[in-house]
Amino acid sequence: MAEPTTKNIVILGGSYAGISTAHYLLKHAIPKLSDSHSYQVVLVSASSEIICRPACPRAMISDDLLSQEKLWVSIPEVFKNYPVSNFRFEHARAEHVDHANRTVSIRYEKEEEDEKTIPFHALVIATGCSTPSPLLGLNKDSTELRAQWALFRDAMMKAKSIVIAGGGPAGVETAGELGEYLNGQPGWFAGKLENPKVDITVVTSASQILPLLRSSIALKAEDYLARVGVTVIKGTKVTGVTPPESGTDLALPTKATVSLSDETELNADIYIPAVGMTPNTSFLDKSLLMSDGRVETNHSTLRVDKAGDRVYAVGDVGSYARPAVHSILNAVPVVCANIKRDLLLAAGDEAGAERSFKEDTRETQMVPIGRSKGVGAAMGYRLPSFLVWLIKGRDYWLWTTGDLWSGKQWEKES
Ligand SMILES: Cc1cc2nc3c(=O)[nH]c(=O)nc-3n(C[C@H](O)[C@H](O)[C@H](O)COP(=O)(O)OP(=O)(O)OC[C@H]3O[C@@H](n4cnc5c(N)ncnc54)[C@H](O)[C@@H]3O)c2cc1C
Repeated sequence: MAEPTTKNIVILGGSYAGISTAHYLLKHAIPKLSDSHSYQVVLVSASSEIICRPACPRAMISDDLLSQEKLWVSIPEVFKNYPVSNFRFEHARAEHVDHANRTVSIRYEKEEEDEKTIPFHALVIATGCSTPSPLLGLNKDSTELRAQWALFRDAMMKAKSIVIAGGGPAGVETAGELGEYLNGQPGWFAGKLENPKVDITVVTSASQILPLLRSSIALKAEDYLARVGVTVIKGTKVTGVTPPESGTDLALPTKATVSLSDETELNADIYIPAVGMTPNTSFLDKSLLMSDGRVETNHSTLRVDKAGDRVYAVGDVGSYARPAVHSILNAVPVVCANIKRDLLLAAGDEAGAERSFKEDTRETQMVPIGRSKGVGAAMGYRLPSFLVWLIKGRDYWLWTTGDLWSGKQWEKES
């Protein structure tokens, strides 16, 4: 239990943004504050394990496809080397932030009747976004994600038709992984796979899949998808699904009828809604949110100006950049420098200049399609399939998360 004199730096959300911010502050901000033992980073996360979220499209299919040890990492374990006076983990969900009175109310994940109200000296909102499909991230906790994957794997082995709504990277990667796993790896000079074992369809309302990439790259992706038995329907919206809760909980019956804007219907043994992200911000006052539900964040300082002193947003939940890990990695040193500065000033100490964030908006996205192919671009340059495989497709970034979760990535102040 924190001393009443403890100044809590509360971080909500334990994923790319929250974990990185916590490590960075513990390494480079807290030790620089006079009376540093009186500051405690309180990391509140609905899940006590972190996962490499981009790996979900492959990881959901089978445990044999990716290293399980690298995929699931315990949060308390990666913070065990910091002084206990400076760090506390709460396996709980933020239920309400009272930004006027500077408190957060949390509810524990294990003992749901237990609630706690934590006063904060600084607050970092890093609760990310949820997907309508429970297969693509920690919408709840890791136990629930594992349970949803187990149900999916069972249904997948019996399925003859799978419909995926959404032509963004999550939908395309999921289709590619399922296509290769269920319909087989294509040969070197293979064309479209005729009569696939399982019909897999991607439906997108946009005129191309992967809208963040140029159209020639998107067409190449379609070609790779066709080789593993995936059909793409473009310029067509999913207007309804029966039963309406299809795809949102694999514990429910998985068969669905998917209605499309061209008045046709698709029958699916499994329906995967991989479209639309919902920011996890229901615990915040509406006055702090944009119309899309993200936290209204100062694009330069990453402060939440309307929430009072020392309140920040980082990661997909913030309105300052589009959702992507590389954006978070650029934002963390900036938000942490500004938090450090604000803490020093609040303590009556001198502090350096403020730092500014600038989003890199160049065409950057890598999309593996199955275990040997992929499309993408980095910093405006088109990447060959081999490089996409090498950088991302081999293990879906698991080679990068070890240093990130352990904090090694943030050893130096940058
Ligand atoms: C399928 C898929 C593939 C992707 N591939 C890539 C890629 O290749 N490259 C890339 O750059 N980006 C990729 N992304 C995007 C990337 O995963 C996100 O940008 C990143 O996960 C965002 O991290 P975050 O920390 O902001 O939030 P999230 O990863 O969304 O995590 C939020 C955390 O907050 C917790 N939480 C939620 N609500 C509460 C609450 N009320 N109280 C406490 N805790 C809460 C959640 O349990 C979760 O642990 C992909 C996303 C998906 C879905």
